[in-house]
Amino acid sequence: MSLGDKAKEVIRSANTILEGMAVTFSHMLREPITIQYPDRTEKPVTQMLQKRFRGLLEVQLDICIGCKRCEKACPINCIAVELSKDAETKKMMISRFDIDVSKCMFCGLCAEVCASEATGAIRHTREFEAACGTLDALVFRYVEPGHPVPLYKAPKDKSEIPVGEAGPHAREARERALRDNPATFAELRKPKTEAAPAESAG
Ligand code: SF4
Ligand code: SF4
Repeated sequence: MSLGDKAKEVIRSANTILEGMAVTFSHMLREPITIQYPDRTEKPVTQMLQKRFRGLLEVQLDICIGCKRCEKACPINCIAVELSKDAETKKMMISRFDIDVSKCMFCGLCAEVCASEATGAIRHTREFEAACGTLDALVFRYVEPGHPVPLYKAPKDKSEIPVGEAGPHAREARERALRDNPATFAELRKPKTEAAPAESAG
């Protein structure tokens, strides 16, 4: 290689390094795109979500007619609804309403069918925090075991169906799920009990 070629090679290498450094330095002066979650956001994250954001599902049991349309509409069987008859009053009750959030793909079909053909009792909220230590804690049980709730009798005029605030039912169900399914890592961190004394030989 001639001296001239070597000089060109050196200049090209220096240009490449300078270009790379220029990109690096330009990023140092820009506003960061990522944000620190959750304590350094200008306003609550739930207020910054897109309008049609589909968060955790929730069920307003007080307006659920137990029609099971949501259960049938779910393509991956996340929802389990069971009805039973009260032995005293002979009225039909909802004895189970579980949603397995670990399987849910947030497609919205269950909420859509309920809003269009029933009462809108199941819906997506703007809640999204569901991290937990066990898969079982992602099964949200809207009916507490042993406490069935009566079926809602919907009025003919749909505008009379009460629509509560979205979110509290999902938060309550999640808290119950966490309480009933303590995280395995919390179990592992418990102090070890003293080892039982070894049985004497003989
Ligand atoms: S949540 Fe809606 S679709 Fe599902 S059982 Fe209740 S009323 Fe029917
Ligand atoms: S959002 Fe979709 S996947 Fe999730 S429970 Fe409803 S129908 Fe099933």
